[in-house]
Amino acid sequence: MRPEKSVEDLAVEAEVVQGIDVGALVGVHGAQRGSRHVSDAPLSEQNRGGPRDKGRGMTTRHYGSCLCGAVRFEVEGGFDHFFLCHCAFCRKDTGSAHGANLFSTTAKLTWLSGEAQVITYHLPSTRHAKSFCKTCGSALPRAATNASPLVVPAGSLETPVALRPSAHLFVASRADWDHDLETVPMIERLP
Ligand SMILES: [Zn+2]
Ligand SMILES: [Zn+2]
Repeated sequence: MRPEKSVEDLAVEAEVVQGIDVGALVGVHGAQRGSRHVSDAPLSEQNRGGPRDKGRGMTTRHYGSCLCGAVRFEVEGGFDHFFLCHCAFCRKDTGSAHGANLFSTTAKLTWLSGEAQVITYHLPSTRHAKSFCKTCGSALPRAATNASPLVVPAGSLETPVALRPSAHLFVASRADWDHDLETVPMIERLP
């Protein structure tokens, strides 16, 4: 049994992960440098859109929506990082093993419909936030602010994501059942 986390522990997690800022991103990126996925040139060509692509006539565009379909959005530009975060806040707000979020300091988010449906919840005294559709509760992107880059829940996208996850974060906080999941039987559809 894992001891209950104190509010202070959770707040520390929130400080570090939920408000992932550009500096933190660069730090993690730096730590990953040299790993095949991060430094692989063709991969970064595919995934880094933005101004550099304009000269070549290539622009990366992703589209996404919520479950009920009221909210639709476009992200123009590439993603810098893709993190699977197992912290207690991400587990709680996704109801799952981990959050799966794409981050970009250069891409532009445009709401194509339903912007008024989008609610952003900020967990008090932390930097954890979550945007979601007020009708169906689906996770939705959060536009960049001075404090954090654009955050896009990978599961909200309909277009393919070529970028592989950069890292699992906060594995020390993962659910007690979240071990060796690749060894669990894989069934194509319903059993
Ligand atoms: Zn919805
Ligand atoms: Zn997290």
